[in-house]
Formats: sequence, structure tokens, C-alpha cells
Amino acid sequence: MKLDVDVLRYLSKDDFRVLTAVELGMRNHEIVPTELIDRIARLKHGGTYKVLKNLLKHKLLHHDSSKYDGFRLTYLGYDYLAIKTMVNKGVFVGVGRQIGVGKESDIFEVVCEDGTVLAMKLHRLGRVSFRAVKSKRDYLRHRSSYNWLYLSRLAALKEFAFMKALETHSFPVPKAVEHNRHCVVMSLVQGYPLVQVKQLQNPEVVFETILAIVVRLAEHGLIHCDFNEFNIMIDDDEKITMIDFPQMVSVSHRNAQMYFDRDVECIFKFFRKRFNLSFQESIDDNDDSNEEKDEDGRPCFSEIERSAGFLDKELAASGFTRKDEEDIQRFIEGGEEADTNSDSEEVDSVEDLNESNLSLDEEHENKGNDESCEAGESGAPEKEDATDEEENEMEDEAELNKSLNKQRQRAIAATRRGRKSLASRNSYKDKGGRSSHSSKLQKQLSGW
Ligand code: ADP
Ligand code: MG
Repeated sequence: MKLDVDVLRYLSKDDFRVLTAVELGMRNHEIVPTELIDRIARLKHGGTYKVLKNLLKHKLLHHDSSKYDGFRLTYLGYDYLAIKTMVNKGVFVGVGRQIGVGKESDIFEVVCEDGTVLAMKLHRLGRVSFRAVKSKRDYLRHRSSYNWLYLSRLAALKEFAFMKALETHSFPVPKAVEHNRHCVVMSLVQGYPLVQVKQLQNPEVVFETILAIVVRLAEHGLIHCDFNEFNIMIDDDEKITMIDFPQMVSVSHRNAQMYFDRDVECIFKFFRKRFNLSFQESIDDNDDSNEEKDEDGRPCFSEIERSAGFLDKELAASGFTRKDEEDIQRFIEGGEEADTNSDSEEVDSVEDLNESNLSLDEEHENKGNDESCEAGESGAPEKEDATDEEENEMEDEAELNKSLNKQRQRAIAATRRGRKSLASRNSYKDKGGRSSHSSKLQKQLSGW
């Protein structure tokens, strides 16, 4: 997927308004009914339908009519919402080349107004697992499906919170600058991932430094859980920076010992193979006895004192809650079994919308409390069949146009008759339980 930032320039206020309406709708619909998008966006004269076509053309939305007519955000659509917010906030003014691609993230250079170059990480949690779920074609699994928007946003929040907390305690990490949705902006690390380095002037020193970080992390109550040559950056002066934090766990995690030993093992193995370091006794990969680990100089998890305490306070200050941690761990450990329902999404929706920085015209503001603008639980069964980004983008153009035009006409007619009639005809009407969410959405929209 290409992140063509130029497209941003051609997108109007209304485009972003509709895109945000889809995002809001996705809090409790995997595919957002077209009528609901129209009601949330509240563009004049059925304008939503024209905008939807434009967003579809730019691949910012995906159209799905298999169960009912609706749309969902694509990664690209979500990227643009986050980037637009960052630009509006003045975090950066331009997006440059891609500098990294991980299993579940894409990393780009971004440039600030003063010319400073930063790194922007776009989380893509669920990208891999979506395919796994699809291949199983198991409806029950779909029932417990997760929302990739929510998971990616959670991963970004966690990464940001940990980076900040670690920085406060003088760990060598990038400087956390800002986060929004699934996007984290941080300082650009000068150097390369250790995996690309073939030679070191002082391999022993580097090795000791890295090992000391693992131990110090544990003293602060944390385990990296993916501490390897891909997530350790090194510069020309052989200075180390550790990156990539969404999978970190507390030392009180039930598998803490295993995660810690695995991190340590990765370091030992890499330095032995790449730089021919030898450790007193030969390292037996299958040997997990603590005694022998001590002999070859491996730190022993049970002997590390949690002298520095936990970083709970700092993490909480960044807005990362225990519930967030439970949700993300469930996904990381349980793969596609994770159940991150949209309820969790509703909690901080206000903040999200404020961050959108999209302005609303006078007329929309005045209509802020219009009772017809409920955005609620679908009366029909939810569309659970998660479709993948690259798949199924081909649509029957004629059919889509027909459907959109029909709905547009209906919307115009409804507007003429007064908005209430549209709401009463809507099959996705709130069933009561979520009505508070509906009015909340409306209030948020008024705040744009
Ligand atoms: P993932 O979670 O997908 O593994 P990472 O955070 O490990 O993502 O980043 C992937 C790659 O992007 C890294 O190996 C590195 O090359 C590059 N990268 C990530 N963050 C930065 C940064 N702050 N500065 C420079 N390069 C970075
Ligand atoms: Mg990584």
C-alpha cells in the first residue's frame, strides 16, 4: 500500500468529515451502514454519497454490500485521519520516505516546520492475523473478532506510554513526541538495526551494555519481550537505542521468567553467532538450568531485585490503563482469539474527536442535539466477516453507483420532509441500549 500524502491536499473538509463519520460508525459496526454515515456526517442535500464515491476512488474506504450496504475505513483512510490530525496540531508538515516495515507496522520519516526529521510509526495490529482468521472461514471465530482500529490504536498508545516512561528513567529509547490513533511520532534514531551490522569495534562492550539494559528493565519491573537484533539500533559510535515496545510486559506476568530468559537468550545467541563471542561455558540452547546460566554469565531472573519499582505511575500518566494492557495482551498472546469489542472504543471517544480538529459549519453546530441523529447498534446482525485490505477492492461500479444514487435521493427526500422521517425509516436504529452512545457521538460532532 502506498502512502501518497499528496492525496491529502485534494481532500476537502467534507471528505474528512465523512471519513471521520465512518471512523465513528466503526466503533460499533465493522461495516458502517451508508445511511448511518450520512446521519453522522450530516452533509447538506445528500452530499455524503458523492463524497463516499470520492473516498472510495482514493481507496480510503472499502465498500461492502454483502449483508447490507456499507463502508469501512481502509488502513490508508485511517492513516490519513491520523496524519491530518498531526499536521493540524503542527507536529510535522510533511511525510517522507518509508524507513522501516515491520510485521505489524510501517515507519516513515516526517519533517517538521523547522526541518527536523522525526520517525512516524503507523501500527497495523491485526494485519497478519486478519489473514489467519479469513483462511479459517470460521464464523464463530469471527464472532470473537477484534477491531483492528482499536488494537492498532492501543498498540500506539502503549508504545507512546512506555517510551515516555522509559525515557524518564534514562533508558536509551527514542524521544516520544506525539501519538494519535494508530500513529506514534518519535525522534529519528541515527544508526541501524543491529541485525544489519557485520562488524563492531567493541563487541564485548556492546554486548554488556545490551545485557545491562535487560537487567535494568527488570529492576524497573519490565520485560521487553522482543529484545533482539531487530529492535536494537546502534550508531557509528556503537551507542545503543532500544525500540518497539507494544509487547512489553510486567515482571509479574505469569510467563515473565520465560520472556526474560528468551530476551537474554536472543542476545547471547546473536553475539555468539555474529561476533564470535564465547561465554565461559559453551551455551547449550536447550539448557534452562539456572545454575549453568549463572556460569556462562546469564542474568538470573529470580535474583534480580525490583529495586527501582514499577513504572506504573508514568504509564498511567500517559493514559495507558490496566484494561488497555489486558486487551492488548489478550490479542498478542491469544492471536485472533482476542475479543476487543467496540465498547472499549467508546470510553475515550471524546478525546479522539477533539483530536480530529475538524471544524463544523454553523448550521451543523446548531443542529447538534437533533434527535434524529442516532448512531446506534445495528438491528441486523453485524457484518463480522473481516475482509483484508488488499483483497476484494474490485467493486461492481454500476451497482454501487445505483445504490448510492438511490440512497442519495432518499436522503434528499428525507431532508425535505424533515429529518425525523429518515430516522424512523432507518433499519439500523438504536435499540435503546446504546442510545447514550448515539447522543454522545452527536455531541462530539457538535464539538468539531
Ligand atoms: P515493528 O513493531 O513492526 O517491528 P519497529 O518499531 O521495530 O516496528 O520498527 C521497524 C523498523 O523501523 C526498525 O527495525 C527500524 O529500522 C525502523 N525504525 C523504527 N523506529 C525508528 C526510529 N525511531 N528511528 C529510526 N528508525 C526506526
Ligand atoms: Mg520491531
